[in-house]
Amino acid sequence: MASAFAHALIGLTAKRLALPKASFKVTMIAMFCAAIPDADVLAFKFGIPYEHMFGHRGFTHSVFFGILFGLLLALIFHWKNKDKLKYALLYIFCTTSHGIVDAFTNGGRGIALLAPFTDERFFAPWRVIQVSPISIRRFFTEWGWVVIQSEMMYIGIPCLLLLGLGFIIHKK
Ligand SMILES: [Zn+2]
Repeated sequence: MASAFAHALIGLTAKRLALPKASFKVTMIAMFCAAIPDADVLAFKFGIPYEHMFGHRGFTHSVFFGILFGLLLALIFHWKNKDKLKYALLYIFCTTSHGIVDAFTNGGRGIALLAPFTDERFFAPWRVIQVSPISIRRFFTEWGWVVIQSEMMYIGIPCLLLLGLGFIIHKK
């Protein structure tokens, strides 16, 4: 994984750019969508191995899951809204972004982006983001500091630039 903070920042940025006027609730849901695929670390507790389709970086990191989860949340929270399709697209983007960003990390196993159709694991050609430890305890070590620097460089700064740009554009 990249850290939950980095994923959530991507959700925040996407929401600010796509639906700047939508409520704070939408921001929270977008951030939640971007971070939720890592809930699959629970699989370890149930003895499901990493490389299993339902193991870590498995099904919940796939494009298919992103579409399902995004649609589901849009239906739950915006059922009566005429713009529900827009919300669905935002939530799908945020959820799907997670697995794709993880594919750029330099550790762990690959990402099952095409699950459930194949359990093949994928990485991006450039694995530039320092992988984040799975355990929170280990995040507060030197490793965590290396992760923060790497995520600032490849996720934090680009997101902040986009947020700034969005702010300028939407202000006009
Ligand atoms: Zn992940």
